[in-house]
Amino acid sequence: FVLGIPAGADPAERRTPIVPDVATKLRALGASLLIQRGATAKAHITEHDLGEVTFVDTTKEVMAGSDVVWTIGPPTAEAIAALRPGTTLIGTLAPYADADRVRALAAGGVNAFAMELLPRISRAQSMDILSSQGAAAGYQCALIAAARAPKFFPMLTYAAGTVRPARVLVIGAGVAGLQAIATAKRLGAIVEGYDVRPETREQIESLGAKFVDTGVSAVGEGGYARELTEAEKGAQEAKLGKAIAQCDVLITTAAVPGKKAPQIVSEMMVNAMRRGAVVVDMAAEQGGNVFGTVAGSEVRVGPAHVVGPVNLPSRMPVHASEMIAKNLLNFVTPMVVDGAIRIDTSDEVVAGTALTLDGAAVHPQVKQVLG
Ligand code: NAD
Repeated sequence: FVLGIPAGADPAERRTPIVPDVATKLRALGASLLIQRGATAKAHITEHDLGEVTFVDTTKEVMAGSDVVWTIGPPTAEAIAALRPGTTLIGTLAPYADADRVRALAAGGVNAFAMELLPRISRAQSMDILSSQGAAAGYQCALIAAARAPKFFPMLTYAAGTVRPARVLVIGAGVAGLQAIATAKRLGAIVEGYDVRPETREQIESLGAKFVDTGVSAVGEGGYARELTEAEKGAQEAKLGKAIAQCDVLITTAAVPGKKAPQIVSEMMVNAMRRGAVVVDMAAEQGGNVFGTVAGSEVRVGPAHVVGPVNLPSRMPVHASEMIAKNLLNFVTPMVVDGAIRIDTSDEVVAGTALTLDGAAVHPQVKQVLG
């Protein structure tokens, strides 16, 4: 089978879904690689590094000539139109973002797998792009915060005395939040963490951070957080407000799948922060967890600097690409039977990740959200 890699649709994207090691493994599986020239350049991979590959100049040639296409970020409408019916498209496809795109994939007979939909079960961990990229994003959040903070993260003793470590609060302790906690801890800050899923207490504490207990517990479908009720929001606000007012750095990573990010930190809470406090709102692209956040920029809200970074994993494209390529390889490998792709919908991982199959949108939650 031919496995194609187009250059991504987003010019700011530096990651690529293919790395040399994975290219070799794909050939061993029976794949021939068809790659758009330049698709890997921003991740510092040259054409020479990838071994035996057919290179073409345009996205259209990749789309039209492949049995399987790997992509980071959804393809444009034009690129989707170039796919042949029966092509398997696998990648991060932002499944909830655009109903027309899902319709176009279905109408074109594309079998599309959105890695954001991957069931979070043990067997699928090695395929989990949200987790691998979440780790990269959480790490970056802590570094951005440390670079912007008006204080040292660690305690520091110098000739004239000792400075106290910065206080960091991380809201949302999923994969990204836990990595932000771990990174801030390694830099020496005093770290607190908060999440609505009760099992995060132990995870936060195991990293040497303190759990902020608001008494709110909100586990929804598939172990993910659910949206909070008004009463729960009130309880959260009171307890969390105090912790927010006392920190130097606030990192927020809270998300609910398929929904706008919850706004957890109100205008009043930001205004009560310390002067010069730094907020890094990782949820900026999904609307933000913090009042005033602007995706892709840094704004002043009362006493605080609020940073709304976008596409954090793209800032470290070498490792982020390596992680994605391995995740995709682990997803596609069980699908290859006798050198060809077989889609086995009796497999819970395959079925759970499918966005469109045989001309129809098939993911129940996506259909519900997009209507
Ligand atoms: P996510 O990106 O969907 O959300 C980030 C965090 O925000 C979550 O921890 C969530 O609980 C939290 N959150 C949501 N609303 C909140 C609110 N109002 N206040 C505070 N926090 C709030 O999360 P994720 O990192 O993708 O992880 C989601 C789930 O998947 C977790 O249960 C995680 O343990 C699980 N997971 C399982 C596997 C696996 O077994 N394959 C891999 C990774 C993650």
